[in-house]
Amino acid sequence: MERKYQVVVIGAGHAGCEAALTCARMGLKTLIITLNVDSIARMPCNPAIGGIAKGQMVREIDAMGGEMGWITDHAGLQFKILNSSRGPAVWSPRAQCDKELYSVLMSKSLQNQPNLEILQSEVTALIAKSGKACGVKILTGEAIETDAVVVTTGTFLKGTIHLGKMHFDGGRFNERPAAYLSRSLSEDCGLVLDRFKTTTTPRINSRSIDYSKMTEQSGDEKPKPFSHFTEIEQWRKNLKQLSCWLTYTNSVTHKIVGDNLELSSIPIGKVNSKSPRYCPAIEEKIERYPEKTSHHIFIEPEGYNTNEVYLNGLYTGLPFNLQQQMINSIAGLENAKVIRYGYAIEYDYSNPLQIKKTLETKTIENLFLGGQINGTTGYEEAASQGFIAGVNAALKILGRDPLILKRNESYIGILIDDITTRGMDEPYRMFTSRAEYRLSIRNDNTDLRLMDIGHSLGLISDKAYKKFDLYRQTLSNIYEGKTDNLPSDEDLCPWSLEKAKEEVYIYKKYKGYIEIQDKMANKMKKNEDRQIPKDFDYDKIDSFSTETKQRLKEVCPQTIGQASRIHAIKPSDIAILTIYLEKQKKEKKQKKLEK
Ligand SMILES: Cc1cc2nc3c(=O)[nH]c(=O)nc-3n(C[C@H](O)[C@H](O)[C@H](O)COP(=O)(O)OP(=O)(O)OC[C@H]3O[C@@H](n4cnc5c(N)ncnc54)[C@H](O)[C@@H]3O)c2cc1C
Repeated sequence: MERKYQVVVIGAGHAGCEAALTCARMGLKTLIITLNVDSIARMPCNPAIGGIAKGQMVREIDAMGGEMGWITDHAGLQFKILNSSRGPAVWSPRAQCDKELYSVLMSKSLQNQPNLEILQSEVTALIAKSGKACGVKILTGEAIETDAVVVTTGTFLKGTIHLGKMHFDGGRFNERPAAYLSRSLSEDCGLVLDRFKTTTTPRINSRSIDYSKMTEQSGDEKPKPFSHFTEIEQWRKNLKQLSCWLTYTNSVTHKIVGDNLELSSIPIGKVNSKSPRYCPAIEEKIERYPEKTSHHIFIEPEGYNTNEVYLNGLYTGLPFNLQQQMINSIAGLENAKVIRYGYAIEYDYSNPLQIKKTLETKTIENLFLGGQINGTTGYEEAASQGFIAGVNAALKILGRDPLILKRNESYIGILIDDITTRGMDEPYRMFTSRAEYRLSIRNDNTDLRLMDIGHSLGLISDKAYKKFDLYRQTLSNIYEGKTDNLPSDEDLCPWSLEKAKEEVYIYKKYKGYIEIQDKMANKMKKNEDRQIPKDFDYDKIDSFSTETKQRLKEVCPQTIGQASRIHAIKPSDIAILTIYLEKQKKEKKQKKLEK
């Protein structure tokens, strides 16, 4: 083999970029190979980062020395804390981004990173000897030697695009798929691959929109950055936020879609794979909820230098002429002109039951998988896995212990535990409801939870860590009421006294609840054989998600133990169910006594 690296990362999407930067920053000679260097960290769906539970993951990556948070702060055009009217445990930062700027900034990070080289090519095969990854083959026929490989191929493996009745090969629109690698993953690496699908929305020209018929959605007045290292005051001064807008589908829209379901690539039977039920196409929403007469459509800008806007909520696989009609039926979009049509994409993924919690495959040593290839969906889910796969590839080569995050310390730990222990039958995305310890793993305390890890990996500099240590000491002093000699904001920067006081306030607010939460978790273990009445009405439990209700009704479990093993049923669902059963039992007893 002509060239030799310590790590080769395949793919420069959100997973690949984090993996490559991490390995290079941990001192390993790294090569990232991608099909097109002009589409590094591209956002083919909504150019938004963060949101419910996802925002927490971005801050977790940042606290350990990853890149996504910092890039988002510098490419964001609108910042919001979602759920801000509810408790801090579910506050979730979200940013609408300038998609081109995001990609440019991430490319720059890769290009400027010591120890990291970039190559535009297609990896056609993996080379393994005696059950261990040792190289990759690229389209030119060249073989590249390496000690470890991280595969982050996203939606590109045998990607097929569906636009109504049209079907063609593509990894994303106008990008060719990776045609060969699937075969090598199956035949040379023993991995079983399956198919998933996802959809995206049409994009329209902002100049053709009548915004007077819509409701404005502004960013936060005092926006907060994602990265712990962004200096907030200077950042706020430079930030120019753009607005999003809200409109709705109506009965005409629903008729256009409902009358033409047969022509869409979405209904089951047309595309031979499964799609995420929580991110449904408009066709699926109308089929599934016929009683609903309208759905939200958020109009979201895609950048400072483009008139293209994204129609959040209008994912579709309808033919292009019907997409135009459907859009024009919506208030404010009567004269809207489509720039890009929505489409569905189908691709190969590898069942994550075939990987360990380090994200190394069980079949081939030193082969790591991260991102959409593991059946997840979303930029943040991808970046989280890319980061962990990169860290563990590097740690393995360096002969150090692996990094496995626990469920009670991070959303990233939950994501990896979920996918590697339960597998999935539809693309997996993160929600706060998947976290049984969400009172403790909040967006505000990601640094306190994870920065020690980032520093021990060598990804947080000593200088930054010293500041963090001072901040942590300040928190203790405020908590204990020793407030005479607190450091100045200048000493603490990029942390601040205001943040320290807020953190102590939140901690005190939740302390009691967290203790109860821990007790409940212990009690749950005793509930294994508790019976569930046959006629139990799951619909009456408001705090259950639609998915939870559907799964429980499908299986009708006889015991709590059985319920807890149903795919996608979370420990928090079981805790709620147990409380209801207990309540029902008490009510029955009370009625008997009254009789
Ligand atoms: C049409 C569409 C709709 C989507 N809708 C949603 C949505 O509604 N919600 C949501 O959360 N997410 C959505 N996504 C998914 C989101 O884009 C991904 O979750 C995320 O980008 C995955 O990141 P990744 O790094 O795993 O892969 P990607 O971002 O897909 O990056 C893969 C990278 O691998 C490279 N590559 C692939 N194969 C090879 C090879 N053999 N050799 C060299 N390079 C290779 C590609 O060039 C690319 O750089 C959608 C994606 C698409 C395409």
